[in-house]
Order: sequence, then structure tokens, then C-alpha cells
Amino acid sequence: MYIKAVVLDNFKSFGRKTKIPFYEDFTVITGPNGSGKSNIIDAVLFALGLARTRGIRAEKLTDLIYNPGHEDGSNSSGPREATVEVVLDNSDGTLSRSQVVNAAGSEDVGDVDEIRIRRRVKETEDNYYSYYYLNDRSVNLSDIQDLLAQAGVTPEGYNVVMQGDVTEIINMTPHARREIIDEIAGVAEFDAKKEDAFEE
Ligand code: ATP
Ligand code: MG
Repeated sequence: MYIKAVVLDNFKSFGRKTKIPFYEDFTVITGPNGSGKSNIIDAVLFALGLARTRGIRAEKLTDLIYNPGHEDGSNSSGPREATVEVVLDNSDGTLSRSQVVNAAGSEDVGDVDEIRIRRRVKETEDNYYSYYYLNDRSVNLSDIQDLLAQAGVTPEGYNVVMQGDVTEIINMTPHARREIIDEIAGVAEFDAKKEDAFEE
């Protein structure tokens, strides 16, 4: 399974609906400072529910909505709504049809060779709302997270390595670094089970 495309609509610096295609093996995004490269990664984390607002460089969720006056701190009066859709290529069958149906709570999920996860944040006068969709079916964040976990994508995982993460790993104590390697290798899970067993 891999990300086939990310569609940003009114998200951060993307004031217009923008579809960014990704290749299966390797995709590089280049551009000048401040051109929106990291915003694309933020969009992926936002849509898949993999990060808290700080992790996607926003104080509050509504800061993610495109704001033409972002640089000078003024606020726009346009529609206060942002949407990101992550299109996953699942043609290798990483996730089964029944896993997708289960998460969506509906048989009506179309062809699961393609899994589309969409998140929308909408600001009203005194509140804001967040919505998740799986192949156009309305779902909860936990449905998305449970489904992705079955494909090995979790908020705690290292599916996404952020700017600064590498430096952090270099500056870690050997013990902390070992913990990460155990986590990736899948050993940590057994350590936890072993500890549980000793406690019993
Ligand atoms: P660098 O090479 O420095 O890492 P980058 O290409 O990763 O740069 P980003 O951090 O993705 O750049 O983009 C930063 C830009 O996004 C800034 O110009 C900022 O003003 C803009 N931006 C962030 N949030 C919003 C928003 N809500 N509305 C409009 N623009 C925004
Ligand atoms: Mg950046």
C-alpha cells in the first residue's frame, strides 16, 4: 500500500484545490523556503489523524484553514473550511475488503483497490467541527486509526520522519535509541508482554 495522491483544498498555503500525485517507490518535493513543502506532509498527518495540532505546526485546528492574510496576521472573511484527502493505492491488498467495510460501517465502500481518507475542518462563528470520511462514508477518527494500524501505520510509529527527528535520534542516549530500534523491529511489543507476564 502506498500514497497515490494527496488533494489539498483550502489547507494552509493551498488556497486552491491542489492534487499532488505520488509515485509508488520514491517521490521528492522541491521548492524554495516557505513554498509549502512541509505543509504537504502536515496535510497527510492531518488527514490520517496521525498528529496533534502541534505536530502539524498549528496552535489550533482552525489555523490549518487557508488564510490569505496569514503573513500579516489578519483574518480572511471567506469560507472557513479546509479539506485534505489522502488517496491510498491498496491494489496489493494490504487491507482486505472486509477490513475496510468494517471500518466504514458500510458495505458501500466501492472498489477497495483505492482507499480514500478525507478530513474536513470547518469553522463556524463560535465553534469548529472536524469530520472524517473513508471512501466517502462518514466515520470517526478511531475508525481511521484502527484501519491504518492494521496496515502498520500508527501515530507512535516512524512511518513519518519529521524535520529534526534525525538530529534527535543522533543526540539521544544509547538506551533511548535502542528503544526506537526495538520498536521498529517489533521487539518492544514482546518486552511489554514479558513485563506483563512477570507482574502476573
Ligand atoms: P522550508 O524549505 O523552509 O522548510 P517549506 O516549503 O517546507 O519551507 P512550509 O513550512 O510548508 O514551507 O510553508 C510555510 C508557508 O505556509 C508560510 O509562507 C506560511 O505563511 C504559509 N502558511 C501556513 N499556514 C497558512 C495558512 N493557514 N494560510 C495561508 N498560508 C499559510
Ligand atoms: Mg519545511
